[in-house]
Amino acid sequence: MTKKRRKAIIRRRVFIATIASLLAAVVALIAVVVIAIKNAPDKKDESVKAGYVSSEDISSSKVEAPQEPEMFVTPTGVELDKNFGRLLLINGKNPLPDDYDTNVREYLVEIDEKYRNNNNVTQIHRDVYPYITAMVAAAQADGVDLRVWSPFRDYATQNILFQRQVERCGGDEQEAATVVARPGTSEHNTGLCADFNMADDAFEQTEMYTWMRENAEDYGFILRYPKEKEEITGVIYESWHWRFVGINNAKLINELGVTLEEFIQMKDYDPAIDMYGDDSASSMPEQIID
Ligand SMILES: [Zn+2]
Repeated sequence: MTKKRRKAIIRRRVFIATIASLLAAVVALIAVVVIAIKNAPDKKDESVKAGYVSSEDISSSKVEAPQEPEMFVTPTGVELDKNFGRLLLINGKNPLPDDYDTNVREYLVEIDEKYRNNNNVTQIHRDVYPYITAMVAAAQADGVDLRVWSPFRDYATQNILFQRQVERCGGDEQEAATVVARPGTSEHNTGLCADFNMADDAFEQTEMYTWMRENAEDYGFILRYPKEKEEITGVIYESWHWRFVGINNAKLINELGVTLEEFIQMKDYDPAIDMYGDDSASSMPEQIID
C-alpha cells in the first residue's frame, strides 16, 4: 500500500468518524429536547389543580372503573346501584356536539308531577330518572318539599335564557355566559342535572337546600358549582343546581372536595363512552315510585 493510499484511507476514516459523532450529537440533542418537553408541566392542568388537589391526592384517591352493581335501598324502598354513574363533562370549554340536541331525545323520560313544580320543562335523562325521583321522594317523606324546577332543556330553550341574560349584561356575552350557559355548553342540555325549587340564591336559605347538602350524595348528586370554585367551573355559585354523577362518585367528589372538572382529571375518562349513556336495559328506569 502506498503512503498516499494509506493517507487517503485514514482521511476517509476520520471523515466517517466525524460524521458519526455529529450524528450521535444530533440524536442526543433531539432526545434531550423530547424529554424536556415531556417533563414540562402542563400549565393549563397545573392552574386548574393549584390549591385544590395535589398530585398526592390524585395518586392516592381510590378512583376505579365501575364494578359490579352495589345496591343501596333508599328509605322509600327503591334499589339504586351505587357504582352506576355519569361523568360527562360539559362546560364552556367542553361543549356538546351540535347533533346532541336531537340525539338525546330518545333518552329522555317525563318526571311525574309530584316530583316537580314547573310545567314548562319536565324531562330528565333516563339514566338519572330512578335516582332523582328516589331522592325527591325521600326528601318529601322527611317532610321537605323538594321539587325539580328545571331539568333537561333543549338548545332552543337554553338560547332564550342565554339571550335574556345577555340583555341583562348590557350585551356582554362573555359576562352573561358565567351566569347562563350558551346553548350546547349547559349541563341542562344533557338531562343529567336539575335546578331545584327555584333558580335563585334564596334556595340556599331553605330547608330543601339543607336537606340536599346532607343527603344528595346518597342519590348520586353533587353541588355542581360550589362557592370559591368559580375559576375552575367558570360558573357562579349556584346553590340550586345539582348534577347526577353516581352515588360512589358523588361521595368521593365530596370527600376530596373537588369539582367535576378536577375529578375527571383523576379518571381514565373517555367522553365518547359517556356521551349518551348506557344502552343496556339496566339503565332504564324500572322502578317508578308512587
Ligand atoms: Zn342549573
